[in-house]
Amino acid sequence: MTETTPVRSTLSAVRTTGSRQVRPATEGWSQQKDESGRPLLQFASPKRGKPPVHLADLTPEQRVEKVKELGMPGFRAKQLEKHYFTHFTSDAAEMTDLPAAGRDELVAGLLPPLLTEVRRLETDRGDTIKFLWKLHDGALVESVLMRYTGRITLCVSSQAGCGMNCPFCATGQAGLTRNMSAAEIIEQVVRANRLIADGGLGDPRKVGHEGERVTNIVFMGMGEPLANYARVMQAVRVMVDKQHGIGMSARGITVSTVGLVPAIQKLTKEDIPVTFALSLHAPDDQLRDELIPVNSRWKVDEALDAAKAYFDETGRRVSIEYALIKDMNDHAWRADLLAEKLNARGRGWVHVNPIPLNPTPGSIWTSSEPEVQDEFVRRLNEAGIPTTLRDTRGKEIDGACGQLVATEDDQRAADTVPVD
Ligand code: SAH
Repeated sequence: MTETTPVRSTLSAVRTTGSRQVRPATEGWSQQKDESGRPLLQFASPKRGKPPVHLADLTPEQRVEKVKELGMPGFRAKQLEKHYFTHFTSDAAEMTDLPAAGRDELVAGLLPPLLTEVRRLETDRGDTIKFLWKLHDGALVESVLMRYTGRITLCVSSQAGCGMNCPFCATGQAGLTRNMSAAEIIEQVVRANRLIADGGLGDPRKVGHEGERVTNIVFMGMGEPLANYARVMQAVRVMVDKQHGIGMSARGITVSTVGLVPAIQKLTKEDIPVTFALSLHAPDDQLRDELIPVNSRWKVDEALDAAKAYFDETGRRVSIEYALIKDMNDHAWRADLLAEKLNARGRGWVHVNPIPLNPTPGSIWTSSEPEVQDEFVRRLNEAGIPTTLRDTRGKEIDGACGQLVATEDDQRAADTVPVD
């Protein structure tokens, strides 16, 4: 324990290693329970008006049907796909290859507006951009676009809010507003690609960015992607579809989950080898029950077994995410226990991505001290588990992992923006 530990801490067990475990309580936070006394989790999406059906919600065959319903020959579907997925436009005026008569109706029927931009914040000299979007029903979501050397990553939201109630995550504390549609997820990518094509990401004086687009997608924005399984999978299919979609590589897409085991098993059987990430944050159930309320349903070992099975089936190395929280989960013995549990399931199937906790409003938890982070990483590496500290982007604009939440200020800004 250190001198700087917040005063409201409660001490718990002294471990065999002699290192004390300190449990800083969150200001005003105690785990919410449902009627049966279990940790509160929201799996079902609250009923709200559905977003309009969009090209990206449909299979290629359904798109052709819809075009015919609108009185046009089926091949027009392919033209719309090209405009939307290749030229990143939903603007009928730009689609001069479509007949003027009926063009507006066709575009309104298949490419209805889904996201209205409320606000855009930039940092890292324009290499990181956070978007605040308003959905058709006023719900607010965010996405974060990041340029790295050799790749461009977009962090997308899959739900407005989140029902998983993790205490250290701002989104989790705000609860679930609703599931996003597949097209609302895809539209975040298309809008980002449009901005990149228009030269809006990074230093505009630099040349040589022609033809660039998002190369990597991480489902690490708002929401629990596997709690919105069907729509997220439809969005993934569109992302990877080379003929009728965006045509990205599956390995560039990372699906991150708190550990919904049945959904992980379902994902394992899909024929799309996305990169899989498990937000573990603790190797022992005692602590994980507190940090990740869904651990009340599926325990550490079950989640790890499901992650290993994902590797066995797909050959894709799994990521374990671990937010390092000072005096909470950053003990050396926990690094050892994590290594032990991972090694018990085999070698070469997993790597660990610790990330220093990003601050969230109202929480007194802070990130681990640099020496403690280094020791945690060192122990895992020494045990043969490849481990790299994750680079955090966008902290200054509240765009980093766990910081995405619609603030009152966002809400006020959104109220002034009419939905298209
Ligand atoms: N619901 C999914 C994806 C969204 S969060 C999931 O939990 O995996 C993406 C990652 O950010 C998760 O690993 C999550 O645990 C982590 N995260 C949440 N809050 C954080 C915070 N305050 N600091 C650092 N990482 C955080």
